Amino acid sequence: MGDMGVHFRIIASFFLAIAIPATVVLQFNSAPVQSELLNAPTSNIQTWLLLFVSSLAIGLAIGWWRERQLAEALRQNESRLQGLIDSQGDIIMRKSADGVVSFVNEAFCNLFELEADKVKGTNYHPPVDMTAARGMIGTFSGAETGTFRVRYEQRLETRDGWRWFLWDDYPVRDPEGVLVEVQSVGRDITDRKQIETDLSSARDAAERANRSKSAFLATMSHEIRTPMNGILGMAMLLRDTELTDEQRTYADAVQESGDALLSLINDILDYSKIESGKVELEADEFEIRNAVESVTELLTPQAHEKGVQIVAVVRQGVPERVKGDKGRLRQVLLNLVGNALKFTEEGGVAVRVSLQGGLNPVTLKFEVIDTGIGISDGARANIFEEFSQGDDTTARKFGGTGLGLAISKRIIEAMGGEIGLETTDGAGSTFWFTVQLETVVPAQLPALPAPGEADILVVSDSHIIAPALGEQVEAASYRPQAHASLGAALAALERAPDVRFAVMLYDLPLGADDPDVPVEMLADFPALADARKVIVVAPEQRKRLDHFLASGFDAFLVKPVRQATLQRLLNPGVDAEWGSASAAHTSTPRRAPAISASNGNASGARVLLAEDNDINAMLATAILTKHGYKVHRVVNGREAIEAMIQITFDVVLMDMQMPEVDGLQATVKIRALEGPARNVPIVALTANVMDEDRDACRNAGMSEFLPKPFVADELLAMLNRILKSGDEDDGSAAASA
Ligand code: ADP
Repeated sequence: MGDMGVHFRIIASFFLAIAIPATVVLQFNSAPVQSELLNAPTSNIQTWLLLFVSSLAIGLAIGWWRERQLAEALRQNESRLQGLIDSQGDIIMRKSADGVVSFVNEAFCNLFELEADKVKGTNYHPPVDMTAARGMIGTFSGAETGTFRVRYEQRLETRDGWRWFLWDDYPVRDPEGVLVEVQSVGRDITDRKQIETDLSSARDAAERANRSKSAFLATMSHEIRTPMNGILGMAMLLRDTELTDEQRTYADAVQESGDALLSLINDILDYSKIESGKVELEADEFEIRNAVESVTELLTPQAHEKGVQIVAVVRQGVPERVKGDKGRLRQVLLNLVGNALKFTEEGGVAVRVSLQGGLNPVTLKFEVIDTGIGISDGARANIFEEFSQGDDTTARKFGGTGLGLAISKRIIEAMGGEIGLETTDGAGSTFWFTVQLETVVPAQLPALPAPGEADILVVSDSHIIAPALGEQVEAASYRPQAHASLGAALAALERAPDVRFAVMLYDLPLGADDPDVPVEMLADFPALADARKVIVVAPEQRKRLDHFLASGFDAFLVKPVRQATLQRLLNPGVDAEWGSASAAHTSTPRRAPAISASNGNASGARVLLAEDNDINAMLATAILTKHGYKVHRVVNGREAIEAMIQITFDVVLMDMQMPEVDGLQATVKIRALEGPARNVPIVALTANVMDEDRDACRNAGMSEFLPKPFVADELLAMLNRILKSGDEDDGSAAASA
């Protein structure tokens, strides 16, 4: 129709273009003499008119021809666009502002088995699964707010069944901005939805499996702890009897293997607790220096026995007191330093704490540096994975489970920190971690020494001790000059004869009886003439202190050197009194003897022992009677309550899991009794060492908690404490076992 119109207009315009000028010319030519007067101007007018009419006609013709071209291009474009729309998988629908369908594409019609003409003009929308719906097609909620596009998902019933679609709604507006139409484009996302569902159910299943694995490990290790109690306890009792040398060797072996097994079980239990998300971080206030130095001090005997140096440095700027989980931090440090010692045969291990940033909370970096065997590149990649060990030979030679680092990593991550490793094969390893801790007391810089007293010479034969002592001197605000060999130190003294040192710290090599060069000879150097000469010795070397004094030293420090002690010693206000600076910290913790005399004799205190397991009961009875307690044993909670009514006891040891009436129920009943029996301290004995178990005991009214297998010393110390003063502090010492 349109085409014919255009054709008609073109033909008409050509006709006019030729016909009109022809008519005009003919008209004037056929009346040659009308007026002489008009003759001359008439021919002019004729010519102009002719020109005007012809150009008008030509212009019209070109205009019509152009219009035709444009109309054709538009038609082609529209059919291309329509083709594009129809060939898309996406379904498209347009609705007017009042919800009447004005357009649907072919994909839409195919999918919902419709005819476009029948849908147009209706309020049709595809069937929506209302339980999964999150928006209605064509209701353009963003239209009023002027949002450009609204996106939502719907589950629609199609000829292929229920399928998920992602709709994009676009507003179509008139020039005044009024909403005229909403165009909705829907894309089938059923496959993506399916993948998402599969992934999330796979993840849920994996999490469930992991949780049940952790729960299984926790239960299993708990179950193993109970018989371990018997084995370790009996071995201990056995070793306390008269034995031949051969028998003693066997009994020692049982005890040692039992200890190893117990620590393995504890690791597994700890790991599974962490894995199942059962670790709650404490927020204790503690001193960083103390926490770190106590770890190196604990491991000093072990290190020195191997001839390995061990040292801790807390650098300047690290806050004095912080808030965080001290126990877990110590656990990680003990593990890393323990590993470092285990894999170092020569040289030493240094722990360094430095401030990495932040004010409150601060980020602290802990480094554990060793000169041991290092870790190969291959092993490095998954060294923090569970059950991973450097290589097979390591496992055979050094033992271990490969859980320590995995546990450490999880603890550090729970604390919001990072853990990592730097190592050069054969030249030792540096494990590091960072933690964020709240500052309670910020670092206080020690008073600056007078200029002449600031220079301190550090001489050691150890590449670990020399720089570490140097850093400790620096942390005390003095200027160190540290040398890792006496030769280097002497050479430096000769090179700079004008320097005057206030103090010389001389680190006596491990195992040496005397310094390499007599101290009198050192004093001949002008640089050291006025210096206080301090010898740094291992605890084992203290027996020769008198000798060192006589040979010209002024004071001594015991390794590992505590920062506070060093600071006191360097302070020029304090006179170098022989040994005074060191006396405070010379005790080095050692493994407690199996049964120590310090726990004394109970002189007949009465203990009610509620324990259903015969071996455990025998063990506890043997330990207690040996130390003067009178023990009355019952086998369940019911008997325990009866005994409490009939007999007066000083303390109750209550197993948690017993037949008939368990420990918790019995405790609740005892606490409800009339008379003094209700106030008798009750100690929970249990192999359940989860936090919830402690809480349950506390809630039931128990006063203390002793995890099994217990060490005789712990049991005795706890009873001692309970019986001495009913109102002393809580049982945290025993509970941390
Ligand atoms: P474990 O020591 O109980 O086997 P860890 O997880 O603590 O378990 O350590 C895993 C492995 O990492 C060790 O077996 C050892 O091969 C390697 N490793 C850890 N620390 C060091 C270290 N300081 N030097 C060399 N190797 C180390």
